Amino acid sequence: MPTIYLSLGTNLGQRQQNLLRALAGLDEEMVITAVSPIYQTPPWGMTNQPDFLNLCLSATTKLAPLPLLHFTQRLEQWLGREETVRWGPRLIDIDILFYDDLVWCSPELTIPHPQIGQRAFVLIPLADIAPDLVHPQTGQTVRQMATAVDAAGVIAIKQNNKKEVETRRVPDFPPLGGEPSRV
Ligand code: ADP
Ligand code: MG
Repeated sequence: MPTIYLSLGTNLGQRQQNLLRALAGLDEEMVITAVSPIYQTPPWGMTNQPDFLNLCLSATTKLAPLPLLHFTQRLEQWLGREETVRWGPRLIDIDILFYDDLVWCSPELTIPHPQIGQRAFVLIPLADIAPDLVHPQTGQTVRQMATAVDAAGVIAIKQNNKKEVETRRVPDFPPLGGEPSRV
C-alpha cells in the first residue's frame, strides 16, 4: 500500500480537539503509522490571526491521490471548516505532503506539496517522524530541509498519546466504503 505524509493545522476553536478529531476521522481510510508531537506555530502568510497548532503524520492507504484529496476535503468540511481567505484562520487544514515518491501536478492537486520547503510548521514536525525521507524532486532529505528553514516560534507542546487518538473515534463520520472514488 502507498505510504503518505499529511500535515494538519488548526487555529480556531478547541485546537487540540480539532487535531484529535481529524486523526480519528482520517483513521477511517488509512492506517496511521506515526504521529509527530503537536507544535504551536506562528501564522504564516496572513500574520494577524491566532497561532496554529500543527502536526504531521505518516500512514498507509488504499486511496489513490485524488480520492485521498476528496476524502480529506470532505473530512475538513465535516469537522466544521468554513471557507475563508487563502492562508486565513481555519478550524482544520489537511494537506497532502508526499504520496510515496509520486510527482503529480494538476490544477486540483500538487504532490509533493509545493510549499513544503518554506514551511517550518511542516518540516519541524515531519523531521520528528521521517527525517530521512527524500523529496523526489530535489533529492533533499526532510532533515536537510528542516535545518534550512527559520524555525523561530515553532514550539513542541505535546507528545501525541496514540491511545488518546485511538479511543477518540468519530462514530458519525461515514467512511467512503463502496463509493466509486475508492480504489
Ligand atoms: P492551503 O492549504 O494552501 O492553505 P487550502 O487548504 O484552502 O489552502 O487549499 C487550497 C487548494 O489547494 C485546495 O482546493 C486543493 O485543491 C489544493 N491542493 C493542491 N495540492 C494540494 C495538496 N498536496 N494537499 C492539499 N490540497 C492541495
Ligand atoms: Mg490545505
